[in-house]
Amino acid sequence: MIETVYIENQIKKHPRTKKILSRFKKKINIVYCDHYGEIFNIKSQNFRIQKKKPALILAKKEGKKLHDIPKTFSIGGKKNYYFSHMLNCIYDCEYCFLQGKHMSAHYLLFVNYEDFFVEIKKKIKQNCLEKSYFFSGYDCDSLAFDGITNFVDCFLPIFEKNKNAILELRTKSVQIHKILKHKPINNCIIAFSFTPENISKLIEHKVPSVKKRIVAMKKLADAGWKVGLRFDPIIPACNFAKIYENLFKDIALNISKESVHSISFGMMRFPKKMFKKMIKEYPNKKIISLNFKNNNGIYSYSKEVQKKLENIVIKKLKKYMKDVPIYNCKV
Ligand code: SF4
Repeated sequence: MIETVYIENQIKKHPRTKKILSRFKKKINIVYCDHYGEIFNIKSQNFRIQKKKPALILAKKEGKKLHDIPKTFSIGGKKNYYFSHMLNCIYDCEYCFLQGKHMSAHYLLFVNYEDFFVEIKKKIKQNCLEKSYFFSGYDCDSLAFDGITNFVDCFLPIFEKNKNAILELRTKSVQIHKILKHKPINNCIIAFSFTPENISKLIEHKVPSVKKRIVAMKKLADAGWKVGLRFDPIIPACNFAKIYENLFKDIALNISKESVHSISFGMMRFPKKMFKKMIKEYPNKKIISLNFKNNNGIYSYSKEVQKKLENIVIKKLKKYMKDVPIYNCKV
């Protein structure tokens, strides 16, 4: 429950700021500031303590809004960008790289969506001869906070009008009612992330159950939306092949492969600095026991383990989702 909202002075009169504030049913404390960095970037903050009661910060995103995504991450396109209208997430997955990336666990929301639209449209124009792929959900969950951000209603129309662009909304949320109010479009992929239920229960705190996510995904697919399946990170566990097979089977029983745009998977991986910060802030993490190796500055499983998991995952996916493109986000 958010009790405090920090607002940058420069956007205190912004219409979206007012709308966001009106969505809070209970009384909140409002604190004005000159720049979000005064709250978000303080060095001595403890991410774990803040995560217990995060505040919301409303700010203006300055500078570049679109960023190139890592080269090994693609779902079939060559022009790939991510954008972050929000930093941090209402869920608490133990492997989440955000806790190693940011100083603060507060939710930072940039209200100047229109500036994002300008850059997105410019990029679409620049790449007019091929499709541009835009990924949201890199620094937050795309849908989990939609009741406050109104992200879906604001961003979908841009893609409804620009068919040469693909939008991926990545989520573990079941907040799909706003999407269902829109007419389905082929160039938006609602991509759901999964780990098997027993793993999810242990390390993906506050995340809706796998069953609920499959139900949400089915509703979208039945309404004509393209969905994506994301198994990233893949997590080694007892009975690995069995529990992942059960997950793939459950999904395939509910979602026809014609509704699945793509599947991607990837191993858990962290740059050294991020990995060290995560361990320091969350020493009781269950994932620490996973025997990470330093592969040229990236902490992940050993190459042998990666290969073994990869082979199992691909084999099982092909069994249940024949002909759906599978992408491996390699370390
Ligand atoms: S849902 Fe994604 S962004 Fe949110 S805590 Fe989990 S891994 Fe991080």
